[in-house]
Amino acid sequence: MSNPREEFLAGDRLEDVALFLADSYVSDERLERFGDRVDDGILIVVDGERGRSAFQAATGTGAMEFAKSAMSNEGEIEGDLTDGHCPDASDDEDHAVQFVFAFAEAQNEEVGGIYAEGAVVHAYAQCTCGTAFSDRWNAVDEKSTS
Ligand SMILES: [Zn+2]
Repeated sequence: MSNPREEFLAGDRLEDVALFLADSYVSDERLERFGDRVDDGILIVVDGERGRSAFQAATGTGAMEFAKSAMSNEGEIEGDLTDGHCPDASDDEDHAVQFVFAFAEAQNEEVGGIYAEGAVVHAYAQCTCGTAFSDRWNAVDEKSTS
């Protein structure tokens, strides 16, 4: 049985992107047909082009523009892409992840660092406070190699 989300997080879907849309941010039943229902929203794994247009339709922002705006601000994003910890969360405001955009990049020994160790998942999140932040980590294959 294949699970697109697990495959994506394992670095096996380099052509695809993942989107998480919190229920509190967008509620569109059409999205449920494309994705997995998770606790607080919908997680969608689709090919890059469709993913970027779905992201644009849902958020009104281009996915790559959003990624650029979030790139320089490091925060923590959960490995399942459905939550995160806003870097500005020390104040009294509410901080909740509204949406996440993620893609995986192939292992690249020339770049070095974590890129030499395996595929890297890049994730970008938007917080309700207005802050966008990013995180990245090595893809983890939780299945035994088959
Ligand atoms: Zn925040």
